[in-house]
Amino acid sequence: MERRILLAGNWKMHKGPKEALSFLEDLDKALELEKTITEAIASKKIELALFPPFISIPTFCDFNHKMIKWGGQNAHWEEKGAFTGEVSIPMLLELGCSYVILGHSERRHIFGETDEMVSKKLTAALDHGLSPVLCVGETLDERNGGKALSVIRRQLLSALEGVDSTKAAQIVVAYEPVWAIGTGRTASDADAQEACNFVRGLFVERCGQNIASGIHVLYGGSVSPKNAAGLLRQPDIDGALIGGASLSVESYIGIIKEALSVL
Ligand code: PEP
Repeated sequence: MERRILLAGNWKMHKGPKEALSFLEDLDKALELEKTITEAIASKKIELALFPPFISIPTFCDFNHKMIKWGGQNAHWEEKGAFTGEVSIPMLLELGCSYVILGHSERRHIFGETDEMVSKKLTAALDHGLSPVLCVGETLDERNGGKALSVIRRQLLSALEGVDSTKAAQIVVAYEPVWAIGTGRTASDADAQEACNFVRGLFVERCGQNIASGIHVLYGGSVSPKNAAGLLRQPDIDGALIGGASLSVESYIGIIKEALSVL
């Protein structure tokens, strides 16, 4: 299966409905001027997906841009119930989401999400046919202690616990070293490639070569127009999960152009 370049923008707690709409209008105008980008999207070489706060998802749904997909930044594993403040996967599907980010390091480290919770969410997303963007990655102490790959292994295999290999094909993995998120410090191209190749190797072990070759593995952590091409040129990096640089149309388009240059 040929892999596309997925450029996923995680807006975190930025942009309510009004700002989301003005971003979408500006992005639409920018895309109209960039025929090479729209051709790459139409021919499925590049895919764009944005992850606004829950409250702005209806704006994406109403705008319904054919070249932009969208998703949630989190979801609960239950379909409904007494879970104040939570949103379920069927609710995201009702608003046209194609993806849901699961296990982002901010959810793990600020909100105490455990591997077990991430695993339940991943299973629920796959059961409902919503593609998860599963985030894994080590802290700086773990990297300095030589534990980066063992942390990735633990997070990935525990998330995949009980997951049927055929359903695993829908998973996108984002390797995001915690020390690179929002810090302006990016993993070197070689370190990012090593980790993404390791992720793919775990899929070979767990699900077989066929599924592993089709899995999209993204790098995330201070991706910008300046460093995107080097990262995207790596053989096991199939795109980026972009935080800060996805908040402005200019820098998001800048990264898309860098992706075009490596096609
Ligand atoms: C992220 O939010 O997943 C992320 C990688 O953020 P940033 O690009 O700002 O480091």
